[in-house]
Amino acid sequence: MVCPCRSFWSGSNLIFLVIALITAFLAYWQFHRGSGAQAAAAPSKVIFAFLGAPGSGKGTLAKLCVDQLGFKQLSTGDLCRDNISKGTELGKKLQEYTSKGALVPDEIISSMVHEWLSENTRDEKTIILDGFPRTAGQAALLLDLIKNHFPQYTLRILALNISDDAVVERIAGRLMCSSKECGAIYNTKQFVEGIDNPLCKRCSSPLIKREDDREEVVRERLKVYAQTSKALTDFFKNAGIKIEEINVEGKESDQVFDAFKKMI
Ligand code: AMP
Repeated sequence: MVCPCRSFWSGSNLIFLVIALITAFLAYWQFHRGSGAQAAAAPSKVIFAFLGAPGSGKGTLAKLCVDQLGFKQLSTGDLCRDNISKGTELGKKLQEYTSKGALVPDEIISSMVHEWLSENTRDEKTIILDGFPRTAGQAALLLDLIKNHFPQYTLRILALNISDDAVVERIAGRLMCSSKECGAIYNTKQFVEGIDNPLCKRCSSPLIKREDDREEVVRERLKVYAQTSKALTDFFKNAGIKIEEINVEGKESDQVFDAFKKMI
């Protein structure tokens, strides 16, 4: 006598069962792939983080992007200077670091960035972080911030490459608009001494030299940059985040801007 279960598992029944199982598996896989993609909707807005030595032109490029492309810029250096000039408690603390060319501790600067992002992410504008992150710790905090609070943004990293000698030469002649709202950056080379009035071309305010652009402070800032930048770039490489680069040595700001526009 033939066992009824044996006859069930034979021939066309078995083929039918295998096809049914494969179909069910494919349907299950499609469903979960679809709902997974929906849960992690692709970020549609961009945050650029500009990396580069002091004087590499991060601020100048960021201002061109604000004026001509409608981006938003957060310069953590400007944020520090703004707090310092207002004489707030935070400002007093920040000055202890900035006046020496030292970095402000990661937690303080990151919470300032968090606060700024909370107030500036309600529109569709692309954001430029100019001078943040500067350490691997800040980079880790930034990734956490985006993941937990601003998941609608994707992070792109741009490094502006330049030699130390070119930086020292640039900073020696750097002038900055005294208006906090403007903050445009110039170089003494753009003005003929005794003929041109060094006023801001955007808002006509007087131009000033930054307190921390004194040579000894610049050297300290470059030393700090050299100490922290390798760990910062290694962090992004290990996190699988591509670092896009522009070589800015010997380039005018409009050439750097053109290179940036081609990249985006
Ligand atoms: P900057 O205008 O970007 O050259 O910054 C001027 C100074 O502000 C720096 O030398 C630091 O003292 C402080 N600062 C600005 N951004 C940061 C940052 N991301 N981390 C720590 N300190 C910062």
